[in-house]
Amino acid sequence: MGIIAFIATLAAIWYLAYQGAGATLWVSLLLGSLITVTLGTDIRWFISTPLWILASSLVLLLGVPRLRRKYITAGLLRQFRKVMPPMSDTEREALEAGTVWWDAELFSGKPDWERLLNQPHTHLSTREQAFLNGPVETLCKMLDDWKITHEDQDLPPEVWDYLRKERFFGLIIPEEYGGLGFSAQAHSDVVIKISSRSIVAAVTVMVPNSLGPGKLLLHYGTPSQRKYYLPRLARGEEIPCFALTGPEAGSDAGALPDTGVVCQGQWQGKTVLGVRLNWEKRYITLGPVATLIGLAFKLQDPDHLLGEEEERGITLALIPRDTPGVSIGARHIPLDIPFQNGPNRGRNVFIPLSQLIGGEEYVGKGWRMLVEALAEGRGISLPALAVGAGKICSRHTGAYAAIRQQFNMPIGRFEGVEEALARIAGLTYQMDAARRLTLGALDIGEKPSVISAIVKYHLTEGYRQIINDAMDVQAGSGICLGPSNLIGRTYQALPIAVTVEGANILTRSMIIFGQGAMRCHPWILKEFAAARNPDRKQSLADFDHALFGHLGFLLGNIARSLFLGLTRGRFSATPVGGSVGRFYQQLNWMSAAFALAADIAMMTLGGSLKRKERLSARLGDVLSEMYLISATLKRFHDDGSPADDLPLLRWSCERSFYRMQESLRLLMSNLPFRPLSWALRLLLFPSGLPWTEPDDRLAHETAQILLHPCDSRERLTQGIFHSDEDDFREGIIEQAFRQAAVVAPVEKTLRNARRAGALGAGDRQTQAREALEKGLISEQEMRELDKMRMLRRRVIAVDSFEQYGEQYLLHESAHNPEQVAQS
Ligand SMILES: Cc1cc2nc3c(=O)[nH]c(=O)nc-3n(C[C@H](O)[C@H](O)[C@H](O)COP(=O)(O)OP(=O)(O)OC[C@H]3O[C@@H](n4cnc5c(N)ncnc54)[C@H](O)[C@@H]3O)c2cc1C
Repeated sequence: MGIIAFIATLAAIWYLAYQGAGATLWVSLLLGSLITVTLGTDIRWFISTPLWILASSLVLLLGVPRLRRKYITAGLLRQFRKVMPPMSDTEREALEAGTVWWDAELFSGKPDWERLLNQPHTHLSTREQAFLNGPVETLCKMLDDWKITHEDQDLPPEVWDYLRKERFFGLIIPEEYGGLGFSAQAHSDVVIKISSRSIVAAVTVMVPNSLGPGKLLLHYGTPSQRKYYLPRLARGEEIPCFALTGPEAGSDAGALPDTGVVCQGQWQGKTVLGVRLNWEKRYITLGPVATLIGLAFKLQDPDHLLGEEEERGITLALIPRDTPGVSIGARHIPLDIPFQNGPNRGRNVFIPLSQLIGGEEYVGKGWRMLVEALAEGRGISLPALAVGAGKICSRHTGAYAAIRQQFNMPIGRFEGVEEALARIAGLTYQMDAARRLTLGALDIGEKPSVISAIVKYHLTEGYRQIINDAMDVQAGSGICLGPSNLIGRTYQALPIAVTVEGANILTRSMIIFGQGAMRCHPWILKEFAAARNPDRKQSLADFDHALFGHLGFLLGNIARSLFLGLTRGRFSATPVGGSVGRFYQQLNWMSAAFALAADIAMMTLGGSLKRKERLSARLGDVLSEMYLISATLKRFHDDGSPADDLPLLRWSCERSFYRMQESLRLLMSNLPFRPLSWALRLLLFPSGLPWTEPDDRLAHETAQILLHPCDSRERLTQGIFHSDEDDFREGIIEQAFRQAAVVAPVEKTLRNARRAGALGAGDRQTQAREALEKGLISEQEMRELDKMRMLRRRVIAVDSFEQYGEQYLLHESAHNPEQVAQS
């Protein structure tokens, strides 16, 4: 009886912890267990009496708030205040900016899948779709990227005019101000399509619609600023830039040394109250051609013209280019991707207070304004550029691998190349899924600062992997630049995507978990807020509530991790069955495991976790991979669960689970307090480490999607510029790709004949003729082979240039079908 009661009590403890039960149930369990032990066993009075006294004291101490706060919470609060990491105002503002969304659900230890799947799948409106099919398509056809990047180092005037005329600079500006008022989804789709023709053009469109004067004015501008500037920005009458970075303030942008001093000065012939500015900025996109500079600086009010405070903090202003004292126009050359980018400076530039974004009300709130705008913008522009790159490589490099032959075989059939192709396809699928999920959140009004950092980092890192793989697959044809090379400039642009809007090392090491832990954890921010509250009584009451909530959360995650680890997620909630349902269940397990690991790391390291960037980064990786998997599952669901996309889904989920496991393993083996990391290992992975990289068979199935015309390939690459026309390189590749599928059986016949010794020595064309003479292939098949040979020559041709003095002029061979035929 004693043993049974003991096991039943343990099971009940585990169950209550697993379910996150409240205090009443815990007290009931305690009393129930004691009554059972006292009445149901022959326990002696001198053992049961102290047990009852202990239990009653515990119930009193924990159950009566006044006692609990006085004897337990107050001491813990003092300790907490001692280890609490210091936080600057800028850090606090960054933390408080934006919202939490699905990231908090992943941190909860038991994500609500219905919430994810019920989130509406965003569709483009008819107007948005018409814009993509009309002006964006026309723009794509106007763009000659080689001329832009190599010859002109700028967009041609007619493209600048077209961008203005069709309101490309006003995608996010509401229609009432003359803009297009598009959703985040449409904005992203426009950038993807343009980037598939020219990254210079895509960046030029991206920047005015991203973090810049337009967005800031929309959110914070005074009515008169909006009325004046937004229509001008939408029509492209003003070209904006936003200047935050300077020589001394890069990643640590909040430390900017640029100043503005409140004083009287001259503006349009009148003496007015304003700000005298001095600044030095660099790397500013669109700066060289901008007519309106959004500027971040620190405002000082030494003469108290605005109020008591002298140091007013980071403030934002709009500076017309022609304001006296402004120097602007020089250009940087960002890795031969010649979008307009350059330094600018101001010496004693005077502006009236009416040029401060948001007017006096927003003085000193610049950092928060920027972080909030970034929480949105970071989720749109660079993820779109990265997904665009993934789609380009999936479509064109995949096709190239089906067309290009070596050792008498399409190179895509070699296992080594397949491995790279599987990564290109699987990552593109997952990255696009994450893009779509994030845009959906933005379009329902969320400003998910942690998620936008996750997609900025992981999608640009995915871009890095994909473009390197594509370069390996295309080899010489990817390296030699010229009009025929569709991936060279995308390769060169990668470091730009990695560096801007939060350089990636910093984003991974400091931002994703650094912000994520505080923002998404259900209790930590509440504990911090309570500990900082100067009202001592309220502080103690709030801290008490948060602390015991946190304790329940911790116990729940211990119970869930252990159980889900033993069963590898089985029996936990999943919205779908079968093999896809297992991914949801495994994610339930990882959600609990992550929440527990994060708590343990924070409890043992306290404020020093912030400096332990490697540990913090690994925790961020786990949160990120969970987000990527849930986005992938959501995408599969939203697309109607097409069976032929299963390899893409499985490849990306299996890779993410493996990466998550490795991050947790490295985290555990680097936690400073060893016994705790052993205990954690036991709680998180009680049945061992289950995941490996996707296996060879799955990689083969995934790569096949890029090597043959199929619906899955169309879905994967949907949204980039397509063409069947001879005038476009994309069209030639597409024709050759389809022809490769037509001749694949004929080539197989020839390969078999060759192996069987039925064909003599000679090149492939001679052997084909011999096969025709011997009746192994038909006349029609011979014609198809000839057509393929011509198309293949055109696809594998690279550009060469005649050198005339200083200049290189394009040698036509890669473009001219007749020359190709003769060669
Ligand atoms: C092409 C281009 C366009 C740009 N456009 C604009 C623009 O329009 N407006 C604008 O204001 N700025 C712009 N920028 C600036 C951009 O945001 C900065 O380059 C970026 O913030 C990084 O600053 P930095 O280059 O000075 O690198 P640094 O700050 O010197 O960083 C160097 C490295 O150290 C890492 N690092 C720094 N601190 C930490 C840390 N605490 N933990 C871990 N790693 C850390 C960084 O991740 C990076 O890898 C642009 C930059 C480029 C290159």
